[in-house]
Amino acid sequence: MERRVSTDGPRGILFDLDGTLVDSLPDIIASFLHGFAHLGLPVPPIAEVRALIGQPLDVMYTQFAPDHVPLLCATYREHYPLNFLNHSRPFRGVERVLRTLRERGYLLAVATTKRSDMARRFVDALGMGDLLHHVQGTDGFPHKPAPDVLHRALAALGTGGLWMVGDTTLDLRAGQAAGLRTYAVTWGTHSQEELALATPDELQPDLERLLAHLPSLSG
Ligand SMILES: [Mg+2]
Repeated sequence: MERRVSTDGPRGILFDLDGTLVDSLPDIIASFLHGFAHLGLPVPPIAEVRALIGQPLDVMYTQFAPDHVPLLCATYREHYPLNFLNHSRPFRGVERVLRTLRERGYLLAVATTKRSDMARRFVDALGMGDLLHHVQGTDGFPHKPAPDVLHRALAALGTGGLWMVGDTTLDLRAGQAAGLRTYAVTWGTHSQEELALATPDELQPDLERLLAHLPSLSG
């Protein structure tokens, strides 16, 4: 039966992409640094770049070379799609968790600070396109910790939200602002100590507790 019952409760689960679903930070950092070398600018330390991942590209570049931001962004957007699969892979267990949640009746979306076109291309290239009902990027509206990208993802799913899963305090604050429960994974950008400051509902080294919170809706 195809009928969708409008009185169903919320069943949207939102995931940050980089550092949450996908171990993509080395490729992002490599493309980020490529621009400096390409333009003959001093190359910033990797640790300082890593700490900024999750923020928009132009914000990140402004920290190091405020006079060259448009050119650095353009160089990145050319380099990154040609190199974004060099080392990037889904974190261990991610695909199984997404598949299980889908089978249990939840609607799954990415909510990322990447632009939608780049995010979609990346997800498809990783072979994860069929696991997600929607990929929502940040296209010219306020980025996380503002909740806008989460609201758009849920609107595209056509349901209310239950959980926001992320690897930075930006994800957690966005989730809280959108009225969702928040799940922090400790395998990404921010340390366990930093994540704890944002008081997530769960702070875990894997996604097993998410499955425990979300039983099958079909039964
Ligand atoms: Mg992230």
